[in-house]
Amino acid sequence: MILTPKPSFALITLILPGPDRKRTLSPYHFRITYRNPEPADPGCVMTWDVLGGRETYQIALERTPGGEHVWHCSCPDAIYREQDRLAHRCKHVRGLMSLCETIGTPVRRLPATAA
Ligand SMILES: [Zn+2]
Repeated sequence: MILTPKPSFALITLILPGPDRKRTLSPYHFRITYRNPEPADPGCVMTWDVLGGRETYQIALERTPGGEHVWHCSCPDAIYREQDRLAHRCKHVRGLMSLCETIGTPVRRLPATAA
């Protein structure tokens, strides 16, 4: 039997402006669906499902060969603004990024002994 270290967080809830016209604050749930065991390698680092909006969206964090992180989100806001992706990020990605600033980047590898 192989023991895998438990992810530090598997489901995150953030309060973000909701999908209605008034943008009423509502809870969004971010569920990790994929985590690259080699986060330093170029390619997809992590993916999340975003629940709580009109639909379920997918967020992906991509690492370029140059070592930069590029965020993708499948929501209409992110797709509509795809061209100025570097200048604009949708609320889901912004929320996730602010969370990473608070608790540290989720791509950092945890010691296997972490409880
Ligand atoms: Zn989004």
